[in-house]
Amino acid sequence: MLDNIFQVIFLVGLVVYLFGVYRPNVRRYRKSRITDSRLTRLDLALDMLAFVAWQVIPVIYVLTPWLDFADYHLPTWTGWVGTAIFALALWLLWRSYADLGRNWSPTLQIMEEHSLVTHGVYQYVRHPIYAALWPWGIAQPLLLQNWIAGFALLAIFIPLYLLRVPREEQMMLEHFGEQYGEYMSRTRRVIPRQRR
Ligand code: SAH
Repeated sequence: MLDNIFQVIFLVGLVVYLFGVYRPNVRRYRKSRITDSRLTRLDLALDMLAFVAWQVIPVIYVLTPWLDFADYHLPTWTGWVGTAIFALALWLLWRSYADLGRNWSPTLQIMEEHSLVTHGVYQYVRHPIYAALWPWGIAQPLLLQNWIAGFALLAIFIPLYLLRVPREEQMMLEHFGEQYGEYMSRTRRVIPRQRR
C-alpha cells in the first residue's frame, strides 16, 4: 500500500496515460463511425482481462493492503531502472496515439475515412502501441514489487499480442492491399529494422 516512491511513480504515470492520452482518443472514437469490425467474443474477453491486469489490479495493489502478502523486495536501483523503462513506454504511447490520430480504435476496426499511417513512430515499426506495452509490462514488476500486481499485465498481454497482431495485419491487408504489403516489407512489428 503506497509505501514507496515507485508505487507513486507508477500511479502518476497511469493517471497521466489514462487522462492525457487514452481518454481524449476514446472520446473522438465514440463520435466516429465504424465501417468494419472484427471484434469477437474472445477479443472482448481479452480486452476486459487486459483492462483488469493493466489498471484495476495495480490500482488495488497501490491503494489497499489486500495484495501485500505477495510482495517481494528488490534493491532500490532496480526501481529506478523500472522508472526509466516506464518513462520510455509512456513516451512511446503518447507519440503513437498522436501519430495514429483518428484511425485509432480500441480493438480491430476500420473507421470511416480510415487512412494508412506510415509516418512518425509508424515509420519505424508497425505496432508502436503494442510495442510500448512490452516495456510497460517489464517496468511494472520493477515498480510494483508484487507477484500479482507486477506480472498481471505481462501474463495477459503475451496471449493478447500473439492473437491480435496477425489478425490486425490481415485486416489491414484486406483494406489497404498493396499499400500495406509494401509498408510491411519495409518495417517490422515492434523492433525497428537496422538501417544500412
Ligand atoms: N497496432 C497498432 C495500432 C493499435 S490500435 C499499434 O500497435 O500501434 C488498433 C487499430 O489501429 C486497428 O484496428 C487498425 O484499424 C488501426 N491501425 C493499425 N495500424 C495502422 C496504421 N499503420 N495506419 C492506420 N491505422 C492503423
